[in-house]
Amino acid sequence: HKHIGHATVENLTEAATSGDTHPVAPDYQDLAAYQAEGGYKLLNACLDGSRSVEEIIEALEGSGLRGLGGAGFPTGRKWKFVRMEPKPRLMAVNGDEGEPGTIKDHHYLIRRPHQFLEGMLIGAWAVEAEAVYIYIRDEYPDVIKLLKDEIAKIEAAGLSPHTKIHLRRGAGAYICGEESAMIESIEGKRGLPRHRPPFVAQKGIFDRPTLVNNVESLYWVPEIVNKGDEAFADHGANGRKGLRSYSVSGRVKEPGVKLAPAGVTIRELIDDYCGGMQDGQSLKAYLPGGASGGILPASMDDIPLDFDTLQPFGCFIGSAAVVVLSDQDNIADAALNLMKFFEDESCGQCTPCRVGTEKAVKLMERDSWDKELLEELCDTMADASICGLGQAAPNPIRCVLKYFPDEVPS
Ligand code: SF4
Repeated sequence: HKHIGHATVENLTEAATSGDTHPVAPDYQDLAAYQAEGGYKLLNACLDGSRSVEEIIEALEGSGLRGLGGAGFPTGRKWKFVRMEPKPRLMAVNGDEGEPGTIKDHHYLIRRPHQFLEGMLIGAWAVEAEAVYIYIRDEYPDVIKLLKDEIAKIEAAGLSPHTKIHLRRGAGAYICGEESAMIESIEGKRGLPRHRPPFVAQKGIFDRPTLVNNVESLYWVPEIVNKGDEAFADHGANGRKGLRSYSVSGRVKEPGVKLAPAGVTIRELIDDYCGGMQDGQSLKAYLPGGASGGILPASMDDIPLDFDTLQPFGCFIGSAAVVVLSDQDNIADAALNLMKFFEDESCGQCTPCRVGTEKAVKLMERDSWDKELLEELCDTMADASICGLGQAAPNPIRCVLKYFPDEVPS
């Protein structure tokens, strides 16, 4: 067990590890305050030609920055791909943040909105996007208000001559966090995921090549370029690279957004960042990636939490929403609760997911689980669903069957 100190990125550590997530905007850093600390100098250098697109993309690639909405696609490479598509191009920012337990985008938007906005405007410049659509969930009215005010200031200051900024509100559907459903929603339609290919980089908003990035991915862009890619890449624990904003909730003493090296283990997160477990409770299980990323037992507490590391165990980190369960929690009940969530949030477009989630809930509500039938249902949903919701919905059941055999109702 290697002790890992808290991350040392200036300005951020304190805010990022404080764990408070006020519903009302605190004193956030406005345009003047951000500019006073050198903000938007990088954007201006990009716009006046003193920084090149290649140079910026190289820094992103060197940093190892990956899509922090959950898919983990390398950010620099994505910008490159979109640039290769014919003009006109567009950009969308995914601020739907609907994965249960995830609160990191809100955390940064409500404190340092301009670091995100500068990263976004650099992205729009890099792919020459004519317009940017920022999609924010309606459950964040504080963020929407703040962004409206600050975007008006940016426009008045002439900081966005290269692109037009649109702010769009979601309406509470989990599926609209799926990028192609989000694009449908931005177009004014019902949020139904699209079949792929074509990918949104080729045919996104109004069928134009579209760069889609998560809020937090863009938030890191100015920081990485200004401080050098190593400043980000040099963090990391247990063989991993970079920083992650873990949204920790559940049975810990100090829940909240914890900025920690990529690859920390659940034990390190709980003990070094969350003040330990709540009194009188012991770790029994944890969800490494919100509702979709599966459930692992306390005995598997030494896995580095990062992209790629959890796949061998049938789990994934997604947006790094870590939910901690204790000896006071019933794991089969927790899995049923997750399945009910998927049943509610299924968009209904394809049968394996629409009918599968409903059927799974019914089977899980029985006094005794029909394991064979549940496994068959899980395979069908994972193999035949159109999008990630239906494909990942079986994860909680599979984990209960595999890792918590004693908890399976029988
Ligand atoms: Fe909709 Fe579920 Fe099919 Fe995704 S898998 S398209 S959410 S019905």
